[in-house]
Amino acid sequence: MASLKKQYEQIEKERGDILKEINELKKNEVIKRFYELQNKNIKLASEQITLYKKLKVKEYDSCNHIWVNTLHDYDSCEGRSDDYYGCIKCGLDQRVFEISSRLRSIDYLTLEQQVMYEYMYGRYVTYKGINTYIECDLDLARNFYTKLKEENKNINDEQVIDLLKNNLKLVKKK
Ligand SMILES: [Zn+2]
Repeated sequence: MASLKKQYEQIEKERGDILKEINELKKNEVIKRFYELQNKNIKLASEQITLYKKLKVKEYDSCNHIWVNTLHDYDSCEGRSDDYYGCIKCGLDQRVFEISSRLRSIDYLTLEQQVMYEYMYGRYVTYKGINTYIECDLDLARNFYTKLKEENKNINDEQVIDLLKNNLKLVKKK
């Protein structure tokens, strides 16, 4: 008991000295500036996230999607299969539902994935735009789309889909 009390008092004194020194340092101009900048940075980071979410929602809202099938998931225990779709234009990706159910939480999703999750939750997003039912890798298809758009700004969605189908046939032949 006496030894515990002694330990406690020792720590209390040590912390008292530390706090005194911290308070002295806080008067230093450089350190004052450090705290000022750190607080500003935290505030701006939070504003940036809010704006990022708003921008993404606007981008998803204004996209006339082209969907491809990014994952065909078959559950042999339940005999149930699920299809997940992704948009090659704006990048919306239904696989965020598969990932979050596998991880049993949306907390482990990246910010981009969380925004997608919130946007698509309870919404039939694939009703908008064209569903091609083409099975392919979303990143690959998105790169393909970006390149096509760079080369020809006036290309329409039907042309994009035809070219994507032909391109995939070429990939499979190899
Ligand atoms: Zn889209």
